[in-house]
Order: sequence, then C-alpha cells, then structure tokens
Amino acid sequence: MQIYPASKSKKLNNICKKLSLIINSEKFEKELRSMGDFDFSSDSDGRVNGAEVWLSFVKCRWDARVRFYKPWWPWSKVNGYYNPSKGLKYIFINSRRFYKRSERSCAETILHEVIHLIDYADKTRFFGHGDNSPIGKSESAPWKISEIIIKNFY
Ligand SMILES: [Zn+2]
Repeated sequence: MQIYPASKSKKLNNICKKLSLIINSEKFEKELRSMGDFDFSSDSDGRVNGAEVWLSFVKCRWDARVRFYKPWWPWSKVNGYYNPSKGLKYIFINSRRFYKRSERSCAETILHEVIHLIDYADKTRFFGHGDNSPIGKSESAPWKISEIIIKNFY
C-alpha cells in the first residue's frame, strides 16, 4: 500500500512520502507483527493481534489518498477521519488544524486513519476503537500502532 496526497501541500506531500516508506519497510513489519492483542478487536477466534493486522495490511489492495477538508465550525477539535461512505480510499484531514500542528503529529493522525481504512477493507477482522473519545483507547489498534510507529520510525 502507498499513501498519496490528494490535496496540494508540501507538508502533506512530505508526510505521505515518509509514511509510505515506513509502512513498506521491514522495520514496520517486524514492529507490527510483535504487537499483542488489541482492545476493541475481534475475529473468528478472539481478539486481533499485530501479526493479524499485518496480514490485513498485506491483503489490502488499495492505496490511501489523503485529502483536506475544512470544517464549517472553526473550533472543531477533529484532526481527521475515515468514512467509507465518503470514498473507500480517502482519508480526510482537517486543514484548519493541519498547518498548526507538527509534522509528526499530523503523520500520526494519518497513520491512525490508515489503520481504520485497513480495518474496513478486511471483512474478516475488526480492529477499530468504538466511539470517538480517545479516553481508554490507547490499546486499540489505530491508537497504539500509530503512536508506536511514529515514535520509533518517523
Ligand atoms: Zn480512530
């Protein structure tokens, strides 16, 4: 899988390039496959671990496209979202916040949304995090994978 920018921005371009390299690296494979069971996950035989999310990554034939959106409400705290009904391969990033945030922090958001995309694409496993509050979700696949990978490899 590759991650491509779908809006014009040098910063977004850099992040997408760097993230694409990371998720296709052996380091990423090794780190992800070593992760244990995630909270809020399930499949036919229980919970989903890092090795299984890795299989979903490999199976996914989609390239992700990252596009800006501008929320109507200027104080929206949402950094980004994935909603398959708005486009299966699209990740939406809040442009009002994007330019105020560090590159690493934005990269973490995009990787988080990529995990949602991979989760949606694979109908045999579920590894989301339920509602949108981040409280108590640090062991879910989207929060944990993006945090660890950005911290270690970005
Ligand atoms: Zn999420």
